[in-house]
Amino acid sequence: MNNRLYGNLIFELSKEGRKGYSLPRNNYGDYQIPQELCRAEDAALPECDELTVVRHYTNLSNNNFGVDTGFYPLGSCTMKYNPKINEEIAALPQFQNLHPSQPGATVMGAKAVIAMLDEALCALTGLAHFTFKPYAGAHGELTGLMVIDNYHRSRGDLQRKKVIVPDSAHGTNPASAAVCGLEIIEVKSQADGQVDLDDLRRIVAELGAEIAAMMMTNPNTLGLFETQIPEIAKLIHDCGGLMYYDGANLNPMLGACRPGDMGFDVMHINLHKTFSTPHGGGGPGAGPVGVREGLQEFFPNVSPYQGNFGVMMRACAYILSLGRDQLKMVGPLATLNANYIKESLKDVYELPIDTTCCHEFVFDGLKDKSTGVTTMDVAKRLLDYGYHAPTIYFPLLFHESLMIEPTENESKETLDGFIEVMRKIAEEAKTDPELVKSAPHNTPIGRVDDVLAAKHPITTYKQMINDNN
Ligand SMILES: *Cc1c(COP(=O)(O)O)cnc(C)c1O
Repeated sequence: MNNRLYGNLIFELSKEGRKGYSLPRNNYGDYQIPQELCRAEDAALPECDELTVVRHYTNLSNNNFGVDTGFYPLGSCTMKYNPKINEEIAALPQFQNLHPSQPGATVMGAKAVIAMLDEALCALTGLAHFTFKPYAGAHGELTGLMVIDNYHRSRGDLQRKKVIVPDSAHGTNPASAAVCGLEIIEVKSQADGQVDLDDLRRIVAELGAEIAAMMMTNPNTLGLFETQIPEIAKLIHDCGGLMYYDGANLNPMLGACRPGDMGFDVMHINLHKTFSTPHGGGGPGAGPVGVREGLQEFFPNVSPYQGNFGVMMRACAYILSLGRDQLKMVGPLATLNANYIKESLKDVYELPIDTTCCHEFVFDGLKDKSTGVTTMDVAKRLLDYGYHAPTIYFPLLFHESLMIEPTENESKETLDGFIEVMRKIAEEAKTDPELVKSAPHNTPIGRVDDVLAAKHPITTYKQMINDNN
């Protein structure tokens, strides 16, 4: 591709003495910075004219792929459209310019927003109280597990240190339990993707008095609705444990059912997924934690402030602008779209669990394994056709996982376009496998070495110069 556009760093465009700014005249007299506070050498800043800066960053931004530029079917992440009204509301200066340390009496409007969101989330989940302090889903999990731990401690039930987690769980579940000082007990899944009740009964019979909680998500990580929640909740409650709901992806639940009604006691919600905040690249997020009546006294103090308020503003704007009746359509439409893609592709992609899914589903690579074309190759080839790749190699239950979540926002035409391309790639895998294996061909860079990039990230300009010398 065009190296002139993609290869340069802003530092390489720098020409000594070139400026893109002029400062206004200083009307306030001189201010001498004490010598000991001055830097000895000038900072290494690029010197560029305004047009160069504008072109540089505009070209960089054109390399970005976002939900505003194309279809983004990333499973387990709910890359739904972020309505622009959210941004307008979150940018209102009355809210945006608040300081986190302002006295409470001067931020009554912000408190009213949080109270409104609290009410909406309680109505949507069937739980009684939320804390808004956690900054992300995983932080919410930790907070929720601390609630559970505090609850058991308050009763002198100190031996309850084990958390049951299905083998299909999101990786953050066992990680959060470990960070909270709890021990993870894995319960198996059956071939149909549901929790194996016999295995759970065995665990409860053996360890009942030590069980702090069971962590689950429903629909589970395979995008399947767990039908045995009432039995599972009864088993766990009867042995003295609590039910934790990982509500990172609440999309299919909106308008369908509520975790509180299913027997869950504590949950977190990823506002940045289900309630439409842009969240690529690791943030910002918000992972409010909800609890059943009586458990709110066990909320730990995980942050001095009220979480990422901008995310809450967006979530509130989204909920209020959709309103009750439209919000009820989110789950059913997300489910319809996922099933439409699944049914349209299952003759060419391997569908290991062939049932009705919720908002997402998992293929296990191409059906025809003789071509040697892997899930990675399919994902890379999709980039050539202008689509973001689905989630790949997760969940870990299958070797060639390809996890697709279209969300409720996409039109039938968009879904049909994606289906056509997925079928075309399956055909290419047969007729010209090398073409798929060497993809992508149309992107600024080809396949990156993600292991090297993760183990040896180059994060500064100086480091890059040193590495190149
Ligand atoms: C995304 C996700 C999480 C983690 O949320 P973060 O905000 O990334 O910390 C936890 N559980 C599930 C099921 C998820 O999809």
